[in-house]
Amino acid sequence: MNKHRDPERRNRRIEDYPKRCMFCAKEIPDDEFSREHSPPKCFYEKLLRNDVDLKGLELPAHKNCNNSFSGDNEYVRNILAGVLGAENSSGAKALVNGVIPIFMKNSTPKKLEATYKKVKLRPAYSNSGIFLGNKPSIEVEWSRIERVLFNMIKGIYYKVSMQPMPTNFHLLVLDASVLPSEVVHHDVEQMVHWQSIKGDPEVFRCRYKIQRNNTEAIFLINLFNYFYFWGEALSPEALKKYQNKELFKPSSPKSKILVPYYLAY
Ligand SMILES: [Zn+2]
Repeated sequence: MNKHRDPERRNRRIEDYPKRCMFCAKEIPDDEFSREHSPPKCFYEKLLRNDVDLKGLELPAHKNCNNSFSGDNEYVRNILAGVLGAENSSGAKALVNGVIPIFMKNSTPKKLEATYKKVKLRPAYSNSGIFLGNKPSIEVEWSRIERVLFNMIKGIYYKVSMQPMPTNFHLLVLDASVLPSEVVHHDVEQMVHWQSIKGDPEVFRCRYKIQRNNTEAIFLINLFNYFYFWGEALSPEALKKYQNKELFKPSSPKSKILVPYYLAY
């Protein structure tokens, strides 16, 4: 059977992929082989893991490449699952009642401060702009969220194209709510329908369009049934083609995003 034409992607197992790293795209010698989960396994609360098809998330990666992101993965999990609005996801709720308080309890004050930056009461608004009162909010490190999302994009790309994304691709991720809705609507319509793994408790799902011989791809990633992130991946040639057209660029620096947080302080 030609695995590249397997219509049932969710049934793929790590043995089906080439022995090449999802992060750096290079070949993996046997003694450096490890299983990376994309999205990261830590996004799924331990007690839920029996119900979730984690094997469906596995991709080949070098041990070293794999380990270099674990801090970012935990950071992003702790931040996003605890944000006001995300608590409607059963997966986020399980994390907030499970591993996140354990992380907080076991952290030094310095480590806590590094994760939950500038905690302060600030006015909070719902997505539709309704004032929710003053809530504890924190400053978020966008660069770490961006790194984790880049890896998620690489994971989707690898699963769909059966080859790791070349490292010279130009990557971009944005909060999807900043994009003009008519543009997003047009592109989203062309994407495949929402994809998730079996048993996913509203932690991760995605839509995407990968085209032109795998040189251009767009993604919509939904985390904890609350956050929508837009992603783009372009080969250097594809990027050149778009250079005269307007590519989406975030209008404001993302390093100082403040999000209302609902964990107890
Ligand atoms: Zn690697």
